[in-house]
Amino acid sequence: MNPVRPRTAVLDSGEVAWDAAVVPADDAGLRGEGCFETILVHGGRPAHVVRLEEHLDRFERSAAALDTPFDRAGWAALSATLVEEVPDGAEAVLRLSLSRSGSGLATVRPLPASVLAGRDGVHVVTLARATVTVADAPWLLGAAKTSSYAVNGAALREAARRGADDALFVDAQGFLLEGPTANLLWHLDGAWHTPVPAGRGVLPGTTLAAVGPAREVLRRPEELLRADGVWLLSSLRGAAAVLSVDGTPLPGDADLTRRLQQVALERPPLH
Ligand code: PLP
Repeated sequence: MNPVRPRTAVLDSGEVAWDAAVVPADDAGLRGEGCFETILVHGGRPAHVVRLEEHLDRFERSAAALDTPFDRAGWAALSATLVEEVPDGAEAVLRLSLSRSGSGLATVRPLPASVLAGRDGVHVVTLARATVTVADAPWLLGAAKTSSYAVNGAALREAARRGADDALFVDAQGFLLEGPTANLLWHLDGAWHTPVPAGRGVLPGTTLAAVGPAREVLRRPEELLRADGVWLLSSLRGAAAVLSVDGTPLPGDADLTRRLQQVALERPPLH
């Protein structure tokens, strides 16, 4: 299969060299004042951008939270142009980034090997995270997908230092929140569950919305030990089964994982 060629494009001006320096040195995005989307692409003629409209909806909400103008038609056109060469049968990552200075960038890249590995399941550790109450303090941008991912990256590095693949944030009271790049879902007593997102800084995930609905509950990590299956949901990995939490193995359900993954990744039918 042909490899995915990395490409970069700038909103309003089109494609540039994939490694071109396109952001001004004083761009607000460099201090985290921006927002972004990371989207899965299945190559083909035409390519399939998984849940593009849902990603553009969230992107638009994030831009509004940052008081930044949003050109939805421009982003849709840019996305369509960038993905058109992704080879049939290949998967790629489409990333859209917008800063408060107005820099709008899109890239398409091959899917990282770490994403493929994560689809086979992940070991997680719980880490504390401060929680914002969005209803009381909208300026804390709790439900926006902002570029301020330094804490998320630090949590992933801490998880790696502890010998795990990923993290699960808990709030100051020990209640489950989400992962640094994924929402949490578990199946217990015949029902799907997810941590209450509203007012707690949990990102409204497009993957969770696609596999849902799930009951929104306030629970501690011990609840997961009783579940028949636990997953981290995100656009690129889809439904990654959680294999252990803080070193305690979890029971898995391969059939549920397969069914969730089918919906999460919107894989094209085999032909
Ligand atoms: N939560 C956080 C903090 C994330 O960064 C992400 C991924 O971007 C998600 C949840 C899952 O969102 P989605 O399913 O839209 O990729």
